[in-house]
Amino acid sequence: MSTVAQTQTLLSATVLLTTMSAMVWVGMAAVARVSPRASWTLAAANASAALALMLHGLRGLWSDLLTMWPADVLSISAFALLRAAVPAIITRRFGWRSALAVVGAGALGLALLPEEGPRQAQARIVNAAGALLSLLAAVDAYRHLRGAQMPLRTVLLLVAPLALIALLLALRGLHALMHPDRLANLMQPTGFNHGFLWGALLLALLQNATLAFLVLMRLVLRIRHLTEHDPLTAVLNRHAFNQALEAAHAGSRRGRGYALVMIDMDRFKHLNDSLGHAAGDAALLQLVRELQPCLREVDRFGRLGGEEFCVLLPGTDLVGAALVAERMRGLIDAAPLHWQGRDWPLSASFGIAEAEAGDACGEAVLGRADAALYRAKGQGRNVVQA
Ligand code: GH3
Ligand code: MG
Ligand code: MG
Repeated sequence: MSTVAQTQTLLSATVLLTTMSAMVWVGMAAVARVSPRASWTLAAANASAALALMLHGLRGLWSDLLTMWPADVLSISAFALLRAAVPAIITRRFGWRSALAVVGAGALGLALLPEEGPRQAQARIVNAAGALLSLLAAVDAYRHLRGAQMPLRTVLLLVAPLALIALLLALRGLHALMHPDRLANLMQPTGFNHGFLWGALLLALLQNATLAFLVLMRLVLRIRHLTEHDPLTAVLNRHAFNQALEAAHAGSRRGRGYALVMIDMDRFKHLNDSLGHAAGDAALLQLVRELQPCLREVDRFGRLGGEEFCVLLPGTDLVGAALVAERMRGLIDAAPLHWQGRDWPLSASFGIAEAEAGDACGEAVLGRADAALYRAKGQGRNVVQA
């Protein structure tokens, strides 16, 4: 048997939980500065939900001017803010357009309805809008997470709370449709309201936990990217490249060979001294941009230091590596650096080597590629040597 006291307790617990969640998201945004824009939006979503529920609970006690239309619009806004923030956590792009459209349409529809009677039409609008927004957020999250190569099971777990919220709201909308003359008030101590409030409480908790997990996961991925990539060119740094090299070397013992292409820009010091360091940086970026299209998905591109790069080509022998290197050499040679109205010719020298049975580690192969590069420099530069 559901009592008024139970309903009130559940509603208060949900208001408390969403208020506390709003405060945690404010902390994430303002203090920890973790995905600040998305975190602020989620703080606003929770605050809206808390305020909407509180006003709803005060129906009959406070003026209808505050507890009816504003509470309903705040309810829809809470889901709209959630809908806008969810894609931003994954892609940095907010889903504002559909969110604002639904809030606008909902607010207008609610304003046109009479405030007398059981207000079931209002309940249908609020719940249908909330269900639609949650569903849009769930579909967006599913698409983006799958796009980011996340395993299906993890994606389904992360999207489940949003889908369940959509389902809960849809059920409430249907309930309003089936009982057109019952008063649409959450505070009525009915079994349905009781179940709905339990669902709302648990799903609010689950939803916030899931989103916090997603935000922290993005932070971890960003930190990992920073520790593995060169800040100027965004290719692998020396440490990460060495790790990839040793992993490939372990694979070569099981029969899958690989080759290395070492690249060193020619007379780079001269370029730096003549045009300045910024021009040197631009030349490094141009080289990386030109070489990227020569690489397959499985190839690894690293900056070993200064103007020295290395490409790891799994499943490639010396002949294949020579072809790739020759193509790269031609591309660099063909495009000068355009700098402040001047054209500065660019070229690079290449040393290639492949893994052999006697190599104890990847570093040994790298040493041979380096020696070949040294010979390329001796031959007058802008050549490939094996
Ligand atoms: P070589 O043809 O024999 O390779 O001559 P080089 O001048 O390219 O060779 P060296 O290795 O002596 O010079 C490398 C220069 O690269 C030295 C340094 O000033 C410059 N350099 C290293 N890192 C960076 C960087 O991040 N940006 C810029 N602009 N220059 C860099
Ligand atoms: Mg050089
Ligand atoms: Mg060098």
